[in-house]
Amino acid sequence: MRIIDGKAVAAATREEIANEVAALRAKGLKNDIGLAVIFVGDNPASQVYVRNKIKACEEVGIKSYLCKLPEDSAFEDVAAAIKRLNEDGGVSGMILQLPIPKHLDENKLIDLISPDKDVDGCTASQKGLLWTGRDSLVACTPYGVMKLLDYYDIPLEGKNAVVIGRSNLVGKPMAQLLLDRNCTVTLCHSRTRNLADITRGADIVVVAIGKAKFLKADMVGEGATVIDVGMDRDENGKLCGDVDFADVADKCAYITPVPGGVGPMTVTMLLANTVQAYKSQNGII
Ligand code: NAP
Repeated sequence: MRIIDGKAVAAATREEIANEVAALRAKGLKNDIGLAVIFVGDNPASQVYVRNKIKACEEVGIKSYLCKLPEDSAFEDVAAAIKRLNEDGGVSGMILQLPIPKHLDENKLIDLISPDKDVDGCTASQKGLLWTGRDSLVACTPYGVMKLLDYYDIPLEGKNAVVIGRSNLVGKPMAQLLLDRNCTVTLCHSRTRNLADITRGADIVVVAIGKAKFLKADMVGEGATVIDVGMDRDENGKLCGDVDFADVADKCAYITPVPGGVGPMTVTMLLANTVQAYKSQNGII
């Protein structure tokens, strides 16, 4: 069994990104390379995520902009901020930090983001490109999972991949990315029957459901690769994933831990997408 070291892969990938940003800056930039984070309200978990994103930008030389709006902002206020950032040449990419306050229409706001700045891959436009097999800005977490699989040379072609969880942000794009790499994909969710029978036959299992230690050893076949996207709390309030790591690990060829697996890759791929967006906006291949 090998533990997939997401921290190490993230560090190596961030170093590559920092070198690329430095090389682009050395050539002279017409527009800056920048990421804007729109943060509506004061969700405590989001505060930590936003801080991490801004710090990560600084570390690789990407300029960051925090657009902070009050909890009671009207739809028009958030829409105006998105439109302003769409027009700002120094902003290569932007993300709307989720969750947003309940009175705001999330999908409507997301679709105001200019698709070429949608570095979270969450607009209908970018999702449509992904779904139809064209180049796109891919949602950061599933993109990070693909990076991990490739870094460890885990074979995908013709393999049975099971994704548990069908969210727009993780499960659905994850399934599509594995399909694009010629896996035979089964996408499971809360209404799936006989889930364990399905997961036991999988070469690769990706779990993204938000239920602490849900995947147990009797749900996994010998030699499977298990990717844990979950970020949950166990009975003692300790960070854990959707996989019962202690129970499952011995059966696996590869497994990601929580923390230190998929998590560090998400922000890393946000940085990668920001550079990709900058390059495509400026005609750099
Ligand atoms: P979400 O939007 O809440 O979706 C959860 C999905 O899991 C739904 O499709 C749901 O099915 C399915 N599900 C729930 N219980 C299930 C069960 N017992 N059996 C099978 N399927 C079940 O969650 P999300 O945003 O995708 O996030 C999932 C987890 O990943 C969370 O722990 C989140 O914190 C974590 N996450 C981590 C990162 C990272 O960077 N590491 C990034 C994003 C998310 P239905 O559709 O039928 O309801």
